[in-house]
Amino acid sequence: MNYQPVIGLEVHVQLLTNTKIFCGCPTTFGSEPNSQTCPVCLGLPGALPVLNRKVVEFAIRAGLATNCAISPRSVFARKNYFYPDLPKGYQISQFELPICVGGHLDIEVNGRVKRIGITRIHMEEDAGKLVHADVLGLGDGSGVDLNRACTPLLEIVSEPDLRSADEAVAYLKKLHQIVVYLGITDGNMEEGSFRCDANVSVMPVGSDTFGTRAEIKNVNSFKFVKQAIEYEIERQIDLIEEGGKVVQETRLFNPDSGMTRSMRGKEEAHDYRYFPDPDLVPLVISDDWVEDTRLALPELPDAKRERYTVELGLTAYDAEVLTASRELAEYFDACISHDCQPKAAANWIMGEVTRGLNDSGLAITACPVPPNLLAALLLLIDKGTISGKIAKTVFDEMWQSGKEPAKIVEEKGLVQVSDTGAIEKIVDEIMAANQGQVEEFRGGKEKVIGFFVGQVMKASKGKANPAVVNEILMRKLKGE
Ligand SMILES: [Zn+2]
Repeated sequence: MNYQPVIGLEVHVQLLTNTKIFCGCPTTFGSEPNSQTCPVCLGLPGALPVLNRKVVEFAIRAGLATNCAISPRSVFARKNYFYPDLPKGYQISQFELPICVGGHLDIEVNGRVKRIGITRIHMEEDAGKLVHADVLGLGDGSGVDLNRACTPLLEIVSEPDLRSADEAVAYLKKLHQIVVYLGITDGNMEEGSFRCDANVSVMPVGSDTFGTRAEIKNVNSFKFVKQAIEYEIERQIDLIEEGGKVVQETRLFNPDSGMTRSMRGKEEAHDYRYFPDPDLVPLVISDDWVEDTRLALPELPDAKRERYTVELGLTAYDAEVLTASRELAEYFDACISHDCQPKAAANWIMGEVTRGLNDSGLAITACPVPPNLLAALLLLIDKGTISGKIAKTVFDEMWQSGKEPAKIVEEKGLVQVSDTGAIEKIVDEIMAANQGQVEEFRGGKEKVIGFFVGQVMKASKGKANPAVVNEILMRKLKGE
């Protein structure tokens, strides 16, 4: 029998706010344990939560960017469970009335576009962290670090519309790119700022009844998501084929073994005894707030790619590479705002600039050649002041010294020679010294011209204008 996998994803995004969701404690990563806590996030009796406005704004941004409706009224709820890193004994989340509902994202897999539904986005607080002494080689026992407690999260829940691990990864990558573009998270997957739970089930092909699902918890890389889902699909199919039954449970993925293992039986929503948090009033969001946020949204990757291909005439590939990160796209946008040719700017950014950054281990935001100076260099090529070849020398010098290209060209005497008289003189000398090749050319072996171009460029130290050189050579070799 053939099986059809069915996958839904729940993504947790840690928000890039300076302070926590319900108190004023900082959210800096990696601080001394319990140094960023107060009565609210320690869960002390009587301490009252106050909602961070920035969290709401970020949630609205995420909702708008994923085509959700923003609820005019949403409610915080208590999700009750016990865990040592959750001192209140409940997590403040949203349940029946989340802030965003009914969105979608379009993904592309193997050239096919598919729409993936987004059920809801809700705001919630993170829990603290257990620190196990033996893991750190510090002896016995475990400690609780509550720095992370009350850190703001968005949970973005997809419909079970994904049908393969590849679709799941395409959806995750797209969602990751969007939330990073929105500036609401650093998207750092290693530090857990973007992590995913995958609900996986299988059903016979042609069936419309979903199988029992298992949830794989907290996978924090695209590669592991693919591995975990593929493993889980195989495991469930094997189990069914052997006459067994998939049970609803929570599983953990082990990147070392590439396998998932059972962690605990999966709770149902009613196990958490959700109820509206009496300490927090319902959240009412005005239409004006939503519209202001909509107007302030940055240009998102899809819109950028569309503009780059349709308006600027770049290839789909170039547009894809340039929009891979918001910073790279902003560098490109800044560059072309100085009126250089978009295609030339794209080529230089994907070529020289990227190579330089890779070699020096720098991010585009720390690029030694700022976009306005790259544009100035491209304009010098455009105007014929320097050749493309000399431009590479100038670029290297700009990278080292940070000087303006025009200054480097002037200091080093690199101005391109377009003066026909001067070039003709060089051409005459070279033809005189290479009579054999002149005969070859005249005998019909026209590709010998490459040899002459090379010689002339060499004699002019790369400064002769290649277009002029070609034209003069052609004329003289043909004996015109
Ligand atoms: Zn606090």
